[in-house]
Amino acid sequence: MIEHHPDDELLLSLAAGRLGAGQALVVSTHLEGCTGCRARLHTLQALGAAMLEQAAPAALDAGAWERTLHRIEGPAPAPDPAAVAAAPHPALPDGVPWPASLRGCRVSGWHWMGPGMRYASVGLPHDRAATLYLLRIGEGRSLPRHTHGGIELTQVLCGAFDDGRARFGPGDFDAADESVHHQPLVQTGATCVCLAYVGARMRFDGRIASLVGGWIGM
Ligand SMILES: [Zn+2]
Repeated sequence: MIEHHPDDELLLSLAAGRLGAGQALVVSTHLEGCTGCRARLHTLQALGAAMLEQAAPAALDAGAWERTLHRIEGPAPAPDPAAVAAAPHPALPDGVPWPASLRGCRVSGWHWMGPGMRYASVGLPHDRAATLYLLRIGEGRSLPRHTHGGIELTQVLCGAFDDGRARFGPGDFDAADESVHHQPLVQTGATCVCLAYVGARMRFDGRIASLVGGWIGM
């Protein structure tokens, strides 16, 4: 049961192509598993199309038609489950499927970031500067208390954490900014793996956490 979803502003930005590649990837990963948000996105797209039809005509620049054709004909094949499974990537807990949205990304192996905590860097083919990570945190472990220099988007792949604001379980999505000061604690019962977009460096309360965070570039 998914309880936390991206808001309409994020879905609209995704539909309009205004989200950066890193943020778009996290929202797309949520959409893979959330029929409610996929339906919501279609509604918003239909609304946008209706508004365009009613808008006054405007002149297009010379390359617009070619770009549109390129988009239509461009590579957007349906994910091939076999290819997704075959791509090399760090192991997820048993039974947790690898997200199709990560197909084509370069994902590192698991690296140590603290007792019971591992991270993997996710490299996007079209945006090498995007700061995306997979985080794997053992049950009962917590990330150091921190806030954010910018937007942080999180999609839970498995397990659950509670950061004092709410409990986030498999399929849940969270957006946090500099107004959120939290310490996610992984619930007992299962390892938690999340896909996280970190828009700007996290600001840790503790000195050691700050050192480790700076060391791994998070
Ligand atoms: Zn949703």
